[in-house]
Amino acid sequence: MHSAENDGEQHQSVKLTINGLPVSADTGMTLVEAAWQGGVPRVTSVGCMEGVCGSCRIMLRRGKQVTVGLACQTFAAEGIEAVFLPPASAPQHHYEIDDFKDGWDIHARFQDIFPEASRCRHCHGCDYACPKGIKVENGVAQAAAGRYRDAGETFFECVMCELCDVACPELIAPAHVGLFSRRITAHFHLRPPNLINRLEELRKERSGSSIIESDEE
Ligand code: SF4
Ligand code: SF4
Repeated sequence: MHSAENDGEQHQSVKLTINGLPVSADTGMTLVEAAWQGGVPRVTSVGCMEGVCGSCRIMLRRGKQVTVGLACQTFAAEGIEAVFLPPASAPQHHYEIDDFKDGWDIHARFQDIFPEASRCRHCHGCDYACPKGIKVENGVAQAAAGRYRDAGETFFECVMCELCDVACPELIAPAHVGLFSRRITAHFHLRPPNLINRLEELRKERSGSSIIESDEE
């Protein structure tokens, strides 16, 4: 976490607005810290504080410019107006990954689940919205072309903040297209060897400890 106390840099005092509240903060503070200082409850829209969980979605107005981002990765600045976005509504695209038994019909089923994905208007809104710098539009195009492995890799750094979903005028739900691509790739492929090996080690450790426990009973 960044703060005025812990990075030793010179910072300025600034005034901004968070969720409609006037807040005095320091330019070394993230907007999460500034929000706490302004009285926003510490349990609101806060998760990992490291830009990984995607919980602290925020909309920012700087003059006439409106952007979105993650509050734990954005620093306080003079005059900005910030609003924490509410949790995303339930996904509108329903499927059970275990229902996919045959790789040959993935694409037909994808098109049934995400019919909007082929209607991308290439507005780049999702790319502009993504705080992780993911080429979201490209990932959607890859999935729409049936290239789920490529799409899964494109969305590899996705934290499911769903800001791209908010930005998409075609209601494509790019975040969920990416999640589907990652899930379906994992569903039909072997897991990474280091993960397989580690799980096997854990299984052996666990079975060893249950033998010791039953001996002690
Ligand atoms: S791809 Fe979408 S959900 Fe994933 S990090 Fe980027 S904006 Fe958030
Ligand atoms: S925001 Fe939606 S319509 Fe625009 S480029 Fe991204 S996926 Fe396509």
